[in-house]
Amino acid sequence: MKHIMDLSRESFIKYFEEIGEKSFKASQAIEWLYDKKSYDPINWSNFKNDTREKLVSSFNHFMIKIKKKEEDNLTKKYLFELEDNNHIEAVLMEHDYGLSVCISSQVGCNMGCSFCESGRLKKVRNLETYEMVEQILLIENDINKRISSVVIMGIGEPLDNYDNVLEFIKIINDDKGLAIGARHITLSTCGLVPKIKLLQELPLQINLAISLHASNNELRSKLMPINKAYSLDELISAIDKYIEHTNRRVTIEYVMLNDVNDNEVNAKELINLLKGKNVYVNLIPYNETSHIIYKKSPKDKILKFYDILKKGGINVTIRKEFGSKISAACGQLRSKEVK
Ligand code: SF4
Repeated sequence: MKHIMDLSRESFIKYFEEIGEKSFKASQAIEWLYDKKSYDPINWSNFKNDTREKLVSSFNHFMIKIKKKEEDNLTKKYLFELEDNNHIEAVLMEHDYGLSVCISSQVGCNMGCSFCESGRLKKVRNLETYEMVEQILLIENDINKRISSVVIMGIGEPLDNYDNVLEFIKIINDDKGLAIGARHITLSTCGLVPKIKLLQELPLQINLAISLHASNNELRSKLMPINKAYSLDELISAIDKYIEHTNRRVTIEYVMLNDVNDNEVNAKELINLLKGKNVYVNLIPYNETSHIIYKKSPKDKILKFYDILKKGGINVTIRKEFGSKISAACGQLRSKEVK
């Protein structure tokens, strides 16, 4: 059976037209689901009885459930169990500008980044659109508050699940539904160049974040096998074209690994790669995990790296650390479960 939270506005319109209903019913369905949080169509009082019955017999709703939660004061980490008993994670973070959720887009990941706990467990499958939507709804219902921004940066490579992720973005962005503004949606990729090129052609105002994590090809290939398929040069040129097409600033994610990518030479190489581009660099203190040898760069090294970039004319920030007391590294909660 299909899932009702797989349906974007276009798909709802198509469905209602097929069953002989007016297309404006799409707006009402979206309002019931995401604004009024009424998930069972049998309760949609402005729909005819036979339409409600058709909806009930055609679609499922709520197929994933919260299995476990861990929290410290500004962060809550959720482990979800899917219908087929697979597990994924999402993280809720409280910022001074609102609540943001980082969601998963796949069960496991095949990109094999050597510092990543999520990638340690290979991809089992792509998430369906509804499984991404439900992560947000279950969290909103759990805390009884609205989420104001979404980051697709949890388990999985979102551009490796391109179609479902785009449907998900359309659904959460719909102004009659969750109404999360495109500028509050960030998609993070390890650098699937052909998909970045597709993305730039779409009329989307979302934020693109590139997980760069290295300042030269040799190091990047060691840390991120994707670099062997799409080299740093190809990736940087794709970023240039993306900026040219969309006129949007791109975020460059750079995880700080002690004695791996955090020295002065790395900082200067990064300046050479990025100077003059409409990007900002987000330096990420690493979340250590017991399975992976990398260690977090000490604070003074991160600050020095930051200073060099800043003096080199690069827009740069250091990401606030969230949830270091809980299983904060992406994929850590799931790997405890999968073991
Ligand atoms: S960092 Fe992202 S792309 Fe790389 S293995 Fe982890 S989840 Fe996959």
